[in-house]
Amino acid sequence: MTTCLLHHPVFLDHLTPPGHPERPDRLRAIADALDRPQFAALLRIAAPHSDMEDILAVHPASYIERIRTAVPQEGFAAIDADTFMSPASFTAAMHAVGAACTAVDEVIAGRATNAFCAVRPPGHHAEPEVAMGFCLFNNAAIAARHAQRRHGLGRVAIVDWDVHHGNGTQAVFWSDPSVLFASTHQMPLYPGTGAPSERGAGNILNVPLAPGTDGAGFREAFTTHILPAVDAFAPELIVISAGFDAHRDDPLGGLLLDAADFAWATGELMRLADRHAKGGIVSLLEGGYDLAGLAESAAAHVAALMEG
Ligand SMILES: [Zn+2]
Repeated sequence: MTTCLLHHPVFLDHLTPPGHPERPDRLRAIADALDRPQFAALLRIAAPHSDMEDILAVHPASYIERIRTAVPQEGFAAIDADTFMSPASFTAAMHAVGAACTAVDEVIAGRATNAFCAVRPPGHHAEPEVAMGFCLFNNAAIAARHAQRRHGLGRVAIVDWDVHHGNGTQAVFWSDPSVLFASTHQMPLYPGTGAPSERGAGNILNVPLAPGTDGAGFREAFTTHILPAVDAFAPELIVISAGFDAHRDDPLGGLLLDAADFAWATGELMRLADRHAKGGIVSLLEGGYDLAGLAESAAAHVAALMEG
């Protein structure tokens, strides 16, 4: 089996103000970890620029134009209290979408079994017409739509284990039962959505975790709720919103996971992907703000994807 790694140097040029947790060093830490000999077999692909049609499947043209024209000539433009753009941010966001869609192409064509996209900016908080939570375009939602529109897939499952709720992804698919959105996240925490009562068209599954939940609690939630729902949905592709900010050392979250928990969850989803989706998994980096915890967790996740 082959695992793709989608990357691009422009992701390091998306800058945020000093002290901001969502910073280029996050990707440098992951790149260092994935430079080890253990990862030599990764099929490394430079992410192309996105096709605008792919973004338009999730975000209206007026929103894309608003983001494009918000790009500053120098310094930073504040989109909201914690979401910023620098001169290269729009280009970076376009390549992040390109990474997600190319990963889908590689997996569905069978050139790779699965893929990890080491991208910035992240995407799961971006709603169709609202940039927020460090996110500009919703990479996971666009990947799912790309799989459906370009490749004719019917059912796509998006599993989101970022410590924050993926309000943007939920908003995109709120009334669309062709996409299952299944999320574990800390509650209460930003952005405040993600209660179990939020069910969409029956295709939304929110499993909030109390602050202080450890790996055992996370695995129980996954085993009891997330995995049976994905299995029953029988997706033709699984997209993972892979945030690693549920790690015990993360400064933004209050959960107590470690790298082995992310590797375990990866393996469980791979079993379901083998059953329903010819093994197809496209994983997208979302959060993760402790550099050591992020690098160790992402490496464990990618190692699991490679090992099968
Ligand atoms: Zn997060």
